[in-house]
Amino acid sequence: MNQLTVLKMASPTPASPNAIYPVVLKDEKDLILVDCGRTDTVSQLREAARNSNIDLNEITKIIITHQDYDHTGNLAELKQLYPSIEILSSREEADYINGTKKPLRLQELEAVYDTLPESKKEDVKKMMRTFGSAVPAHVDAFVQDGQVLPWCGGVEVIATPGHMPGHISLYVKEFKILITGDALGVQNGELGLANPQYNGYGNRKALGGKAAVLRH
Ligand SMILES: [Zn+2]
Repeated sequence: MNQLTVLKMASPTPASPNAIYPVVLKDEKDLILVDCGRTDTVSQLREAARNSNIDLNEITKIIITHQDYDHTGNLAELKQLYPSIEILSSREEADYINGTKKPLRLQELEAVYDTLPESKKEDVKKMMRTFGSAVPAHVDAFVQDGQVLPWCGGVEVIATPGHMPGHISLYVKEFKILITGDALGVQNGELGLANPQYNGYGNRKALGGKAAVLRH
């Protein structure tokens, strides 16, 4: 029986209060994790899975919506723990996940660091450490817009560039659920495009072309 489970990982620090919600897709053969939480939180991920009667030891694949430390932070450690798992992302995002390119959030901060007032620099340094904290991991296979992955009743890949240039969303057909990563967010109780503060790449414009897809 196919299952879709949303895990909840509370924030470990008051400084970044948002909970993280990795998704687990399960079918008869595979246990697939969609995004994997902040850096160094594998035990928290394991506990969140256990609370939903999911054994993380059964994991076979990880699909990453985009490279940000709160979506890829545990990736390298999980691959080390479970060497046979397959890691998938878009081709564009893979360069940031495997370390060929520095995380974009880090690049953005490095570009402005010297222009900041001294009073801000300590905080920004902390942010840079956080944004750069995900250990790079090899991506085994690329997925692309329109591709239907044959797991959990069919999972359609939808390119949703904006928050990150290679960001993907996943439409899980059987459950009629769209996993949007950080392409969409909830602010003041309303669903909308992700906070533009973290969208240096024209989220609004990029997502405009996908409006029909988002109405599934
Ligand atoms: Zn993000």
